[in-house]
Amino acid sequence: MKNQKKQQKRPQFNQYWIFGSIVLVFLLLNIFSGAGSQTSLTTTPSKFFEFASNGDVERIEIINKREVFVYLTREARIKDEHKNSSKNSLLSIGSKNPNYRFEFGDLQNFENRLSLVNDNFNQNIEVNYITQQNIWGDIIISMLPFIVIIAIWIFIMRRMSAGGGGAGGQIFSIGKSKAKLFDANSQVKITFKDVAGLEGAKEEVQEIVDFLKNPKKYTALGGKIPKGALLVGAPGTGKTLLAKAVAGEAKVPFFSLSGSDFVEMFVGVGASRVRDLFKQAKEKSPSIIFIDEIDAIGRARGKSNFTGSNDERENTLNQLLTEMDGFGTNTNVIVIAATNRADVLDKALMRAGRFDRQIYVDLPDVRERKKIFEVHLRPLKKSSSVDVDFLSKQTPGFSGADIANVCNEAALIAARKNKKSVGKQDFLDAVDRIVGGLEKKNKIITEDEKKAVAFHEAGHATVSWMLEHAAPLVKVTIVPRGRSLGAAWYLPEERLIVRPEQMLDEMCAALGGRAAEKVIFNKISTGALSDLEKVTKQARAMVTVYGLNDKVGNLTYYDSSNGNEYGFTKPYSEQTAETIDKEISAIIEKQYQRAISILRKNKKKLVQLAEVLLTKEVIFKDNLEEIFGKRPFDKDNKKVNKAK
Ligand code: ADP
Ligand code: ZN
Repeated sequence: MKNQKKQQKRPQFNQYWIFGSIVLVFLLLNIFSGAGSQTSLTTTPSKFFEFASNGDVERIEIINKREVFVYLTREARIKDEHKNSSKNSLLSIGSKNPNYRFEFGDLQNFENRLSLVNDNFNQNIEVNYITQQNIWGDIIISMLPFIVIIAIWIFIMRRMSAGGGGAGGQIFSIGKSKAKLFDANSQVKITFKDVAGLEGAKEEVQEIVDFLKNPKKYTALGGKIPKGALLVGAPGTGKTLLAKAVAGEAKVPFFSLSGSDFVEMFVGVGASRVRDLFKQAKEKSPSIIFIDEIDAIGRARGKSNFTGSNDERENTLNQLLTEMDGFGTNTNVIVIAATNRADVLDKALMRAGRFDRQIYVDLPDVRERKKIFEVHLRPLKKSSSVDVDFLSKQTPGFSGADIANVCNEAALIAARKNKKSVGKQDFLDAVDRIVGGLEKKNKIITEDEKKAVAFHEAGHATVSWMLEHAAPLVKVTIVPRGRSLGAAWYLPEERLIVRPEQMLDEMCAALGGRAAEKVIFNKISTGALSDLEKVTKQARAMVTVYGLNDKVGNLTYYDSSNGNEYGFTKPYSEQTAETIDKEISAIIEKQYQRAISILRKNKKKLVQLAEVLLTKEVIFKDNLEEIFGKRPFDKDNKKVNKAK
């Protein structure tokens, strides 16, 4: 932050300087080149021939075949007639200044007339032909295109770097790193206390803090201090927070920037920014460099390199690798990087001696969520109805950032209702909003559409109720929210290993919406798009990734070492492709038929449920129990999911 301010105080280099200097040059040019001729009086050819015939003219100069400079004889200069001819003629008799000047038109004509005068009046006027070069003018004119191009270029550069924000207001700083520096006197004070949960990760980074605080303890025994640590985890799990806490605990300068900050349109900028960053960090060592979203530059090299655009990223990455190799373990600079896509990173980054520590930051579990809630509830004025245990149970799958968002959103909702404190319902509303988007109560839906949505959601609810492995339902709503017209919320079990029957049951439940439309109206609609997408993906994964299909067999076409995004070649034959397609549609069709038969059997209950839904708009598990009775296979559960 401080850096930026300093730079902005420097006088700005801008295009006005250039325009200004061009104008200046022209002015000087005029003054110098015009000095000699400006003082002479302009006259006409006929007057000149009159002077010539009088014998007043000593010699003339024909300049650039266009103009004549007339020099009078010594005697003529003091004549009254010629008094005004040249301002300084009296002072500088015999000087080089011409007394008169004029343009003659056609050279041939002029020469003829002159020789006539010479002959007739017996004159001998000396004629010199001079090509006067306006050196400065010529230089300026030949340079003008370049000046214009440079001016335009500077203008564009300024525009672009201004658009990129940050300290890039000047072309000269484009190769400077854009890292934000947090040091001892900065306001940001984050310690491990602010990071809830993440016990394992904290322990590992604690060690890094120790390295920075007393490196001798470790190097004394001949050990080497790691140069880098890579934080891997889903977005919002607190990786940045953790890195800041490391800096706060170690009390060392902390350079923070994002991987994309290195990348600019210009070739070589990324590499020079890396160099600059490391130079700054070394000057302030011991220090920490934190690179967020390192996958922006750290992607595996040499893959899908169709355009030249990747070269710049590769150069940047190479420079980063070089810098990390370059500094000795005694430099006391530790690089912490964060990514949510460790799988796409270049292997060279992960090898020992660079990011040799990988710290996994997982989504928080119930216990950790409770702690995170406690951290973020601290600043809120909450009513006594708020139960942290309940909230953490209701938010499976939420990241730390989501939880922070829920707390903030709840406070805003309560404020909108002019409440004195934030209540339990505000938190639940906030959770709904974050899962499903904003409620759109006044979205215009026709009665028919509403009915279709109600049956669709009732279909999901009924089918999932009847299937052992489908996730238990939390609530169903037909209030439009975000982009969906209705939704069913589930609390799926958090499984590490999924069995095929569980996947099939989930697919069946997801197809329950469309099946209900078919059973009730004998019509289907576009409303099942996201269901179909989910089901298709799952079926494809069963066949091609997890090896769960008999026909295709126990093999996988998934390649973990290769984020083959632009691959044109399939790793299987046309024949296999056909089999895969057939198997996928067979799986889906089977589950669809299964959903239909479940709904046919329970048609009465389905209709009943849809009607309750139409009147109440939102129904919960209890309402379902009233209709279906207790669900035989209910267990404790985790993670919320949504299905349209
Ligand atoms: P990431 O870098 O992993 O994407 P951040 O570290 O930027 O995520 O986290 C975003 C916000 O989420 C933090 O500023 C903090 O408010 C909140 N947060 C995330 N994890 C935690 C945690 N474990 N404890 C407290 N707050 C957290
Ligand atoms: Zn649906």
